[in-house]
Amino acid sequence: MIAAGRLMLPNGTDAVRLADAWLRIENDRIAEVGEGPPPVEPDLGGPTSYVLPGFVDAHCHLPQFDAIGADGMELLDWLAAVIFPAETRWQDATYARDMADRVASRLLTAGTTACACFATVHAEATQAAIETLAARGLRAHVGHVLMDRHAPRALTPPIAAQVESSRQLRPAGRAEVSVAPRFAISCTPELLAAAGELAAKTGRLVQTHLSENRAEVALARELFPGRSYTQVYDDFGLLSERAVLAHGVWLDDDERSLLAERGAIVAHCPTANAFLMSGDADVRTMRAAGVRVALGSDIAGGPIVSMPRVARHMLETSKRLHGRDGVIPPERLWRQITAGNADALGWPRTSRLEPGAEADLLIIEPDACERLARDRWPNELGYLLHAWQDRWIRRVVVAGRVQP
Ligand SMILES: [Zn+2]
Repeated sequence: MIAAGRLMLPNGTDAVRLADAWLRIENDRIAEVGEGPPPVEPDLGGPTSYVLPGFVDAHCHLPQFDAIGADGMELLDWLAAVIFPAETRWQDATYARDMADRVASRLLTAGTTACACFATVHAEATQAAIETLAARGLRAHVGHVLMDRHAPRALTPPIAAQVESSRQLRPAGRAEVSVAPRFAISCTPELLAAAGELAAKTGRLVQTHLSENRAEVALARELFPGRSYTQVYDDFGLLSERAVLAHGVWLDDDERSLLAERGAIVAHCPTANAFLMSGDADVRTMRAAGVRVALGSDIAGGPIVSMPRVARHMLETSKRLHGRDGVIPPERLWRQITAGNADALGWPRTSRLEPGAEADLLIIEPDACERLARDRWPNELGYLLHAWQDRWIRRVVVAGRVQP
């Protein structure tokens, strides 16, 4: 199968570029990429099309997709009033399976073909979500949430049961199991220690939250006296290059240094930080300190599924904090939501248009009015990012399969 048009190709290690080009898909992989006109009539795309790698969302919550838009609360109140009730519904694994299938459709509609997501504390529902995302072809890390305090009784089963059921979860297709202590304040030291052990034994990715909201940070200090929020995770072996920690809004210099030293990844979630009024995470300062950064929608803390739109918010936050120095070029923002996020999540062959990569890609057609303006664009990648509409997506290819 051949796809052709303006292809978004890798450009060095932190950017992309556009070129008139084509690629050949063989089974679930990209077998060949060539610049210039395609060797035969393409099966997908054409002269007015763009071919993009599928998007990667580095942080979202599957059971929260119906909870988007509950406004006016900060994190801890919002969790109690909106999110814990939504997650309690996943005690019914059939409900969870149906919902995971709906979420997969929603992600694919927005061009997201890979994600790191949280399920709930329910092992059966988590296993159902893993199988459902795999059946839909998505590449995923699915976190089995661990928590044993500061949450309703229905969401805090005994530690031993949580850890044992977590251990028994199995990957399926391209969906992997991850270890997901929700955040330090919802876990006792015993549970954090068990999570660290489980991650070390299984090599699974660790997903959690870090320093999102001031009240949360204050509670973490109270619960773990004398330790910074970041040190708490380090104390329990949860910081490594296989750890993705969402937010990092209120980090200090020592915490940034520790994250950098461990190679841990902060999943920046600018839309969630704005929606829940948590503050602005300073990615520029994190990067200057050597911290690896990924980008996530954090549905439903963030209300926006579309990753190009989340990338726009990343840029806006950066400019708000740093003015002109905060400008992030579009070629880097596009890379961030494709191969950049994939690299951070440990997927070096995902979301990039190059030979040997997994064939996850989008065929897009900007509407007529945008197409007419193309020869006047001073910055084609910038135009595509800032004018982006999900309805431009004409076809989604997941692991070489064209979606209906
Ligand atoms: Zn989150």
